[in-house]
Amino acid sequence: MDSETLTRTHIEIIPGEGIEPDTGDAPPVFGRCPVCGKPLRPRDKRTGAPAAPKPGTGYESRARCSGCGTILVYLGGGRWRPLEEGDLTDDDRFADRLGLD
Ligand SMILES: [Zn+2]
Repeated sequence: MDSETLTRTHIEIIPGEGIEPDTGDAPPVFGRCPVCGKPLRPRDKRTGAPAAPKPGTGYESRARCSGCGTILVYLGGGRWRPLEEGDLTDDDRFADRLGLD
């Protein structure tokens, strides 16, 4: 269990190329960032295991691209789109003001 995954509020996404050593067990890629094109490797918020979020669940469907920092919304089927203002709830805006991300 990775303690980092327990404290982060967004799914950590690791860029797919050029950073990690080839361990032979790289997690699968779940599509690419529509903004910068980096392969995305979302992880389950609870287990830290590589897993795509469930589409259509608001906050639970989001992840941040570690390449360009864009918050993305998972659409399913390996497709993502950047988070839009209309996606945010009052709770999200409150968290933003506090800098909680
Ligand atoms: Zn990106």
